[in-house]
Amino acid sequence: MSATKVVPAPSQEIPFLPYNRSLIGQEEIDAVVQVLRGGWLTTGARTREFETAFARYIGAANTVALNSCTAALHLALAAIGIREGHEVILPTMTFAACGEVIFCLGARPVLVDCLPDSFQLDPAQVEQKITSRTRVILPVHFAGAPCDLDPICDLAKRHNLKVVEDAAHALPTRYKGRMVGTLGDITCFSFYATKTLTTGEGGMVATGNLDYAEKIRRLSLHGISKDAWKRYSAEGSWRYDILDVGYKYNMTDLQAALGLAQLGKCDSMLARRAYIANCYDQLLQSLDGFTTLPVPADIEHAWHLYIVQVSHEALTINRDRVIEELKNRGIGTSVHFIPLHLHPLYQTVLGYRDGDFPNAEERFSRAISLPIYAAMSEADISRVMDALADIEGKFHR
Ligand SMILES: *Cc1c(COP(=O)(O)O)cnc(C)c1O
Repeated sequence: MSATKVVPAPSQEIPFLPYNRSLIGQEEIDAVVQVLRGGWLTTGARTREFETAFARYIGAANTVALNSCTAALHLALAAIGIREGHEVILPTMTFAACGEVIFCLGARPVLVDCLPDSFQLDPAQVEQKITSRTRVILPVHFAGAPCDLDPICDLAKRHNLKVVEDAAHALPTRYKGRMVGTLGDITCFSFYATKTLTTGEGGMVATGNLDYAEKIRRLSLHGISKDAWKRYSAEGSWRYDILDVGYKYNMTDLQAALGLAQLGKCDSMLARRAYIANCYDQLLQSLDGFTTLPVPADIEHAWHLYIVQVSHEALTINRDRVIEELKNRGIGTSVHFIPLHLHPLYQTVLGYRDGDFPNAEERFSRAISLPIYAAMSEADISRVMDALADIEGKFHR
C-alpha cells in the first residue's frame, strides 16, 4: 500500500495557466463570421487569398493550403514520388507525423540522432545513413530555430536527394538571413491549435517548384483536375478528370479566414514570444537547476517552444517530478518530444532499441517546454518564473 501523497492544493483564486492558448481577437471572429454569411464554407476565395498572403509573407514562389502539416508532409513526399523500397532520413527527435507519412507511402524511415547539446539533427549522421535507396532528407527546425541546413542541402545535392523541411515550429524563422520556406525543395508548415499561427487545424506547403505545387494541389483533392470551387463558380464547368489516386487534404475557407487574421499579427505575436523568452533567459542565468541550450547567433528564432533542461546534478528531483511540481503550482507544461526510436512501433517494425540515439535520449530525459504564447500576461510570465525559482529553492541538492 502506498502512502497518500500530500500535495499542496492549487490555489482557488488563481486559475490554471494552460501550456498554450490561442490569441483570438475580434478580427478572427469577424473573419470567420464573414465566411459563414458568404455561404461558401470550403476551399474557395479565402483559401486562395491566404495562400497568396502567406507566400508573400515568407517570400515563397508557390504555396498550397492544406488541412494539416501532416498532410503537407505526406503530399510533399508523394509529389517527389516516394514509395516502397525508398528510404527517408529524419531525426528521431521529432513528432509522430514525420515518420508516419513515410510508412504511409510504403517507404522506410531512417532515424538520426541530435547534435550533442542540441535538439537539432546531426548532418554528419545524415551522411552516414545515405544508401542507394535514400531519396529524401527530412530535417525538422526544432522549437523554431532553424537546423543547420547548408550541410544538409550540400549532401542532398551531392547524392541527388530532395530536402523536405518540417517547419511546423518555424514560422517565422530565418537561417543566415534567409526565410525558412524558401530554402529546401518543399517546406511544410503547421497551423495546429498550439502553433505560432493557428487555423485550428491546418497546414501549408511552400515550394520553389511549380510542378510540385501543382501535383500537391491535385493530390490534396482526390487527384482531380479542377477544384470544386472552380467547378461551382460562374466560369466553372461540371466536368472533371481523375488523374491520380488522391487524398482529401484541402483547407476550408473558414480555416483560411482565421489564418488571414492570424497572419496579420504574426510579427506582433513573435515579438511577444521573444519578450517572454528573454524573461526566462534572464531568470535562468540566476538558477542552476534549469539550463537552456545555446541559440546560434546567425538565426532568427520563431520561439514556438521554450525548452528548459532539468539539471539532475543540481536538483534532487527528476524531470517528471519537476513537471508535477509545476502542475501543483498551477502551471501547464509539455515535453517535445519522446524520440521516435523509443516508441513500440519503431522498435518492433524497424528494430530500433533504447540507447540507439544517446543525444536525443539525454535531451528528452531533461526537457520541459514552458508556456510561451502571445496571450500570456505579465502576471502569467511572473507565475512561471516564480514557480521555477521556488522549485529550485525547495529541491536543490
Ligand atoms: C505539430 C507538428 C506536426 C504536425 O502538424 P499538424 O498540423 O498537426 O499535422 C509535425 N511536425 C512537428 C515537428 C510538429 O510539431
